[in-house]
Amino acid sequence: MALLLNGMGVSRGIAIGPVYILHRNQHEIVEQKIDKKNIAKEVKRFKTAHRTAKKQLQKIGKDIPSESPDDISTFIETHLLMLDDTMMSSSPIEIIKQNQCNAEWALKLQTDAIVKVFQSMDDPYIATRQDDVKHVFNHIMEALVTGGKSQSVDASEKWKDRIVIADDLTPADTMIMQHAGVAGFVTEMGGPLSHTAILARSLNIPAIVGLSDARLYLNRGESLVIDGSSGLVLAEPDDLSIDHFHKRQRAMRRKTKELRKLNDAKSRAKSGENITLLANIEVEDDLKHLRKINAAGVGLYRTEFLYLQENKIPNEEEHYKTYVRVIRALRGAPLTIRTVDLGADKEIDAVTLGPLAHNPAMGLRGIRLCLHDPALIVPQLRAILRASAKGPIKIMFPMLTTVSELLQAKQLLETTKEALRSKGIKFDEKIPVGGMIEVPAAAISASHFAEHLDFLSIGTNDLIQYTLAIDRIDDQVNYLYDPLNPAVLSLIKMIIDAGNKHKIPVTMCGEMAGNPSYTRVLLGLGLREFSMPPNSILEIKNVLRQTRLSAVRRPALGFLHYSEKTKQTTMLDKINS
Ligand code: PEP
Ligand code: MG
Repeated sequence: MALLLNGMGVSRGIAIGPVYILHRNQHEIVEQKIDKKNIAKEVKRFKTAHRTAKKQLQKIGKDIPSESPDDISTFIETHLLMLDDTMMSSSPIEIIKQNQCNAEWALKLQTDAIVKVFQSMDDPYIATRQDDVKHVFNHIMEALVTGGKSQSVDASEKWKDRIVIADDLTPADTMIMQHAGVAGFVTEMGGPLSHTAILARSLNIPAIVGLSDARLYLNRGESLVIDGSSGLVLAEPDDLSIDHFHKRQRAMRRKTKELRKLNDAKSRAKSGENITLLANIEVEDDLKHLRKINAAGVGLYRTEFLYLQENKIPNEEEHYKTYVRVIRALRGAPLTIRTVDLGADKEIDAVTLGPLAHNPAMGLRGIRLCLHDPALIVPQLRAILRASAKGPIKIMFPMLTTVSELLQAKQLLETTKEALRSKGIKFDEKIPVGGMIEVPAAAISASHFAEHLDFLSIGTNDLIQYTLAIDRIDDQVNYLYDPLNPAVLSLIKMIIDAGNKHKIPVTMCGEMAGNPSYTRVLLGLGLREFSMPPNSILEIKNVLRQTRLSAVRRPALGFLHYSEKTKQTTMLDKINS
């Protein structure tokens, strides 16, 4: 009989195939007391296992094929660094000596302590780093238990066309499985920010995570369908369902293949107007996708990831080197660098807002935080300016609420320019300065902001959050999320009109810009520049190439009058037909 389960879909695509249950790392770890005279022997056993784990990881690192994404080698390097850290190399030895216990127990005690620290962190990105600690623990434990004779996943096992069900997968496991042609995977642990999820997306493997007890419900060899977008897992599907999913799978493949033909096509509406399609990037790795799809440049570089990755404030040189690498990779295409937007859900240890911030999304974040503590932004401004001598860079300030904030930020920029000038350091004297309009107050007075700026950029993620009063990370109010709400669309239109009035470009860089359902509405409201995740660009290009701008103007304005879902759906179907 068919069984329907639901997990968290983290990597798009449908996989159909037999189940492969991966049982491992399930050694029962018990405490054993070790005689004083045998402690040295136990320490030696730990050191040997540690060495073996290191050699195995180094070998995996060397065997990574050159065409694999950089993510993979980064993961392996991170694990090697953790393995070498005293917390994993010498602390367990201290525990063996102090507690007079076996190496396995000492390693477990030490790992549990580290994982506990990671779990207590509020930042979801940092919290998921506990996965790395567990992976490193597994590598050493495997070597301890098996005397170094086993690898985490045997490369010779037959993964081809199978859907692997596991507690969790290490990056090395995932890579080995992808090379062997795995169809997809489901893990019991992990979230959308876990390494497994990140890697699955970059390797294009349909994947579902966080399906607790998946290995209890599913059986080896039974047939399975997984949908990596919705998180659906269907075991023992009937012929009709298999047929349905095969059709969907073929349709998705055809669509991706078709879209690839647009790589070199102009982003031009059917009626002839050029539309600018830019990419949003968070980390340097995202640039690889850009080259393939010919984006016109980067419309939003979220630089806070530089702070989050290292959990510290980068110094000027670190900023500078990164920006120069990015601008070189863009080969002449413009790069819009958003100054750091920390606060709310993006915090680092050095900048925590503490218990006084009852509502951090409305607290000291973005430009407010930087004006409060200029040491956060000045090294970044210096680095951006210096990098602007190497290629076309624009500066963008986030979370502006009042014009006076903008003027203070510009003053800070001027002072920084003056300091560089006095030292004879080169930079682009005419570097364009833009502002993110993502607070309703700024949207309503967008015209005043436009007087002082070279471009405006609409941040719909926050604009929707603040306009509809829905916390963007609270899943209990997700049902209210509605980019087509007339209040939101009216604000978007006000911003576009303000840009037109002052003859400055207006870009949209929130998620709405990358959703093909809204492209025609936005074109109809007058938007001509879109910035989005790189893998949405071809889909949006496809829509706009089939759109006559004069035909969508009037229907788009119609959306300003209706908030009823049924009415919106009918109108959306009509404008998109
Ligand atoms: C936005 O708010 O729409 C935006 C692009 O910024 P972020 O998602 O980084 O807050
Ligand atoms: Mg924002």
